[in-house]
Amino acid sequence: MFDAPEKIEDSDMVSRLVFFPHMEGNGDDLIAPLMFFEFPQGQPESVVWRQRCLQDSDVHALGCAAEAKKWEEAKKRGRTLNDTYKGFRSALAGVVRACRSRRGHGFHVEYAPKEGVHHAEISYAPNENPAEPGLRQSDKQELRLYLHRLFSPLSPHSCSSDPIAIP
Ligand SMILES: [Zn+2]
Repeated sequence: MFDAPEKIEDSDMVSRLVFFPHMEGNGDDLIAPLMFFEFPQGQPESVVWRQRCLQDSDVHALGCAAEAKKWEEAKKRGRTLNDTYKGFRSALAGVVRACRSRRGHGFHVEYAPKEGVHHAEISYAPNENPAEPGLRQSDKQELRLYLHRLFSPLSPHSCSSDPIAIP
């Protein structure tokens, strides 16, 4: 179906699905920007490679499907969860890759199709300076704040399948 090479170019767009209230944290304005990308346990975070998901409506469809899955899993565990897909924010891969913290750390943007042909990941790229090795907690927070800033404003979405509450 696709003949394009599997390398994400700097000029390619990636989009991040946004869920609320999860990504608002506890409502604290200082915490919310850190919830946009969390990198739990240093793991990569998912984004949509727009070369493989061209239309905004296709990205929204992925968001609605992810929302449905979250709700199904929460229901199974008997939990009430009010996490709703609200839209996406985008950035050029090259802009994410060019981002550097004060101590010289940055990000990788890589194709990771195991979760679908459109699936890509952003992960921390530690600097290669032997004098300043390793990512500290403060480096990670700084990098996450940069990501929150360099992605576009929200391309919003709402639809009739948006859950309101688990009965
Ligand atoms: Zn929806």
